[in-house]
Amino acid sequence: MSRGSKSLLIGAGVMLPTLLVALIFFLLKTHLDLTQERTPLPRPEWVAERLDDSQGQGPVAAYWVNTAWQSTSLQTVMASDSSRPDDEPFVMGFPAFILEWADGRLLLIDVGMDAVAARAFGAPLEALGLAGPMKPELSVAESMGSELQRIEGVVFTHLHIDHVAGLTSLCEQFKGTAPVFMSDAQALRPNFLTKEGADIVAKASCLEVDRSVTAPMTPLPNFPGVWIVPAAGHTPGSQIIVARIESGGGTRDFLFVGDIVNAAQALELNQGKPILYRTILVPEDEERQNSLRQFISTLQHQHGFQSIASHDQLALEASTLPEWPGRSPLKDPAIDGRIKIKNTLHNPEAIPTKGLWQ
Ligand SMILES: [Zn+2]
Repeated sequence: MSRGSKSLLIGAGVMLPTLLVALIFFLLKTHLDLTQERTPLPRPEWVAERLDDSQGQGPVAAYWVNTAWQSTSLQTVMASDSSRPDDEPFVMGFPAFILEWADGRLLLIDVGMDAVAARAFGAPLEALGLAGPMKPELSVAESMGSELQRIEGVVFTHLHIDHVAGLTSLCEQFKGTAPVFMSDAQALRPNFLTKEGADIVAKASCLEVDRSVTAPMTPLPNFPGVWIVPAAGHTPGSQIIVARIESGGGTRDFLFVGDIVNAAQALELNQGKPILYRTILVPEDEERQNSLRQFISTLQHQHGFQSIASHDQLALEASTLPEWPGRSPLKDPAIDGRIKIKNTLHNPEAIPTKGLWQ
């Protein structure tokens, strides 16, 4: 062996363990920092009682807009459970949600991605053979068109890039400035996976940061019928958005839980994410996640809430939330083509719903 290759080997022998130790310390610190964000959760009964405070002032409709989707299997997003086959298909959706008040005001919950960001986001999972190719849909800005001038507020379940990247095209079209409601943890204490999203929000020309969200639950100023619960667990600034929708003389109570679970059934099974996912890929605070799953389940089973997990596209389509009506495909051939592609996912004949309760 030459002298050069010998010293290269010795160098690698020193470097690799050093890098490994550095990585372990980095991950340990990320996990530890997350545990510092365990603010007290409100009692479920108290949450349910608060919703009566909205008294006819709450949102009258809620919609979803899916900005992209990617096929994978349940084992990629949820730890194995003996009652479920691991190869059960799972469709990751990347939605934004829109709440609407009687006077026309809109509140956005997350903004999904545009096509370029979606392709980049989906590439690693596809390269690892864990998912099919990412299929971009219309971005929020494209779906909403001129309707987005009605936006008067934005809130993020958390700041991972798949929930934030659509902001760039949205701000290009949005003519005003809207408040974005965040906790200090979300705005000021990002981790390495939410830093990019936090920077996009901080620099967004159409948003003004409002850091009034505090534990255990904050009513959104100027948006009666909506509250935010700082949650942490998945990211330092993860938030659950609680909303009472008042329509047709009745009410429906929703929890937009972001990525606390990926698969909706993980709530019923009280099942975490796969261990490699939650320890290395997206470091989570599993103890807190467990508390959050139980908190959400109690609200579902004892108080009639419906929870909406961002990425479970099939559960979302089976929920009572309608898709944002959007522009008519007949008026825009470019959009027509993309909507047709989208609808081949589950129902080739489907057309976007018109915003009525299903
Ligand atoms: Zn996500």
